[in-house]
Amino acid sequence: MALQEYECPACGGAMEFNPKTQKLKCPYCDSEFDVKDYVANHNSSSTGTPTESTSSETGESEPLFIYSCGSCGGEIITTESLGSTKCPFCSNNIVVKEKFTGEFKPDYIIPFAKTKEDAVSTYKSYVAERKLVPPVFAEKNHIDEIRGIYVPFWLYDATEHFSGEYKATKHRSWSDSRYYYTETKYYSVLREGTESFKQVPVDASKEMPDDLMDSLEPFDRSKMLSFNMGYLAGFLANKYNVSSEESISRALSRMEHTTTIDFQQTVSGYDSVTPVNVTCSTVNSSHKYALYPVYILNTSWNGQNYLFAMNGQTGKFVGKLPFSFTQALKYYIPFALGFTALAYIAMFFFM
Ligand SMILES: [Zn+2]
Ligand SMILES: [Zn+2]
Repeated sequence: MALQEYECPACGGAMEFNPKTQKLKCPYCDSEFDVKDYVANHNSSSTGTPTESTSSETGESEPLFIYSCGSCGGEIITTESLGSTKCPFCSNNIVVKEKFTGEFKPDYIIPFAKTKEDAVSTYKSYVAERKLVPPVFAEKNHIDEIRGIYVPFWLYDATEHFSGEYKATKHRSWSDSRYYYTETKYYSVLREGTESFKQVPVDASKEMPDDLMDSLEPFDRSKMLSFNMGYLAGFLANKYNVSSEESISRALSRMEHTTTIDFQQTVSGYDSVTPVNVTCSTVNSSHKYALYPVYILNTSWNGQNYLFAMNGQTGKFVGKLPFSFTQALKYYIPFALGFTALAYIAMFFFM
């Protein structure tokens, strides 16, 4: 398998995609290159051999692949879906080309716009605001574990055809000196039409929790670009391992739900509306494949998993950090004592 490497033409250093300048940058000599120009002109010559082995630690048989680094010859171990990574020995950035070409070639990519430093400072202030988290979460070697990763997504376009029949009523009541009158008018309301959707995203990675990816939305798709391998340099990237056929039902049911609500909302001005017969069906659909940028810190502590994730484009983040009882004591006890002392003094003066 061919590996794409990002050797600096000036000094041979390992270049990385820089979210600030949106260019490939060499951290050693500061040379910068346009992503498209570089990848077109520098095709890597080195190859790696995938060696299928079985991970014995987890007991599950997830195949691991071993590539030899074109720069130092060291062994780079990846999972089946991980296609962009760093050599652990020389920090060379490599992309396994086969994971992002042919049937796995993404149509689009949203490049990282936030740097790892942005993610680190967001994480630090998140931890600082929560004074009750265990100190281990604020330690440097822990923070260094924050990783930028491109997550695979399916983007669905579809048109939904809707047809609905509703029973609706309008009430009127009045009275005169002898009687109290109520009048109920009955209506049969019909609605029919189509609603079109563009680029409804569904994450295409088994490893990513669906609810987490949903909570990192929205991504600004107006900044989405045609895929180029250069954007992957220095970041992790997964290829999809959930097919578009498996994911489409999630997208279509979201669209059907929205269409049904949108049409029902046009039935207005009545006192009651009851659906009698409502159908929604997909007329046509198509999909594209895209990579989205996410920073992730995954920690297990005291037997539980904790997660910090940040949208690599907008900086929006979600976190779930633990609560430490020892920290709570340290933080609250001086405050509680101080308060009691004040109350005591106050009592003393007023007696
Ligand atoms: Zn250089
Ligand atoms: Zn290496």
